[in-house]
Amino acid sequence: MNFDLADHHQLLRRTVRDFAEQEVAPVAEELDRTKSFPYEIVRKLGELDLMGIPFPERYGGAGGDSLAYSIAVEELARVDSSVAITLCAHTSLGTQPIYLFGSEEQKLEWMPRLCRGERLGAFGLTEPEAGSDAGNTQTRAVLEDGEWVINGTKQFITNAGTDISGVVVITAVTGQQDHSAAARSGDRPEREISNLLVANGTLGYEQGEPYRKMGWNASDTRPLMFTDCRVPAENLVGARGAGLRQFFHILDVGRIGVAAMGVGLAQGALDQALAYAKERRAFGRPISKFHAIQAKLVDLSTEIEATRLLVHKAACLKDLGRNFTLIAAQAKLKSGRLAVRAADEAVQIHGGYGYIEEYPVCRFYRDAKILTIGEGTDEVQEIVIARALGV
Ligand SMILES: Cc1cc2nc3c(=O)[nH]c(=O)nc-3n(C[C@H](O)[C@H](O)[C@H](O)COP(=O)(O)OP(=O)(O)OC[C@H]3O[C@@H](n4cnc5c(N)ncnc54)[C@H](O)[C@@H]3O)c2cc1C
Repeated sequence: MNFDLADHHQLLRRTVRDFAEQEVAPVAEELDRTKSFPYEIVRKLGELDLMGIPFPERYGGAGGDSLAYSIAVEELARVDSSVAITLCAHTSLGTQPIYLFGSEEQKLEWMPRLCRGERLGAFGLTEPEAGSDAGNTQTRAVLEDGEWVINGTKQFITNAGTDISGVVVITAVTGQQDHSAAARSGDRPEREISNLLVANGTLGYEQGEPYRKMGWNASDTRPLMFTDCRVPAENLVGARGAGLRQFFHILDVGRIGVAAMGVGLAQGALDQALAYAKERRAFGRPISKFHAIQAKLVDLSTEIEATRLLVHKAACLKDLGRNFTLIAAQAKLKSGRLAVRAADEAVQIHGGYGYIEEYPVCRFYRDAKILTIGEGTDEVQEIVIARALGV
């Protein structure tokens, strides 16, 4: 077993770290404060081949693996979570379904522009009545004269409402398999759920106003409305009725990225706390000399190291083509909780300054909480893990 990253992974880490420190760090506070989408940064990420890391070069991707992707996401989140989630949702949730399940025509039409970062991809699963209970999708699509007619509402969707948003893949009920057994037992009848591709600008597809959020302020999150929205029959992604299976797989893959975000945020919080603790003096000494402060720093650095290994293991298992559902859920659960605690401790170490927006840890604190909610809540990860343990 070799824990050293390969040369190309180390090079990628250095490249993204330099980019994050030189291009993202100087503007992160302002983008957050003004709730401005980071168009210029996304353009540069595209130029650096970072908007399609795990996709083959023939579709415009960088031909990287999941480990490369998790390293890049971690490095961005170490500096700013809004930028990291923009890349993460675009890659794992927006582009991934097209790559994994789309037709060759869909891939050729969308992937090159998505991988270059000229267009952003989004994934519309969550609805007012379907969050953790994602199978309770109420959005419907009916096939009429060779077109899907879509009606319904999605909520909390990332990347769908920017000037460069190109396409959203949504789940919709395309039929009802009203089994008599389900009807007799009173269970919810099985529903045929499929994934459909809807391009921005399609008549009947509208994006609502952005939400006022606790954090991730520079990322785009909105409700989506579909009113007699018609898309060609060919916009079905993969087989009709395969939507549930597809999105469970997409969420598994996505968890690796979100877990890497948790490690990155925790590492960034630790870096800030460490630097501050060495500089800030109290009782005639740097506060880093007090055992209570050292204990926090020591504990965080240990937890971060362990959680990073979990994330890398999940990514490597995926790259080896092995089952990674359990480890990805464990990594996501662990890293979300760690990010929240690391941001909390970093604020604590900054004392009153931690509560003031001019220090990045204040933003990190607001950005951390969503990592225990998005891409499957902690409680949902516990269900996934318990199922894998056979309990
Ligand atoms: C900023 C942001 C960006 C997002 N981006 C996207 C996106 O791009 N695409 C997308 O599709 N969605 C997105 N989401 C939605 C996100 O994935 C959901 O909010 C999340 O899955 C939880 O669903 P919910 O909000 O409906 O909560 P609910 O499902 O209503 O859960 C409420 C509480 O009940 C608990 N709970 C529910 N069921 C169970 C159970 N069986 N056992 C134990 N506890 C349970 C939950 O864990 C939670 O604590 C985003 C959300 C936010 C806030």
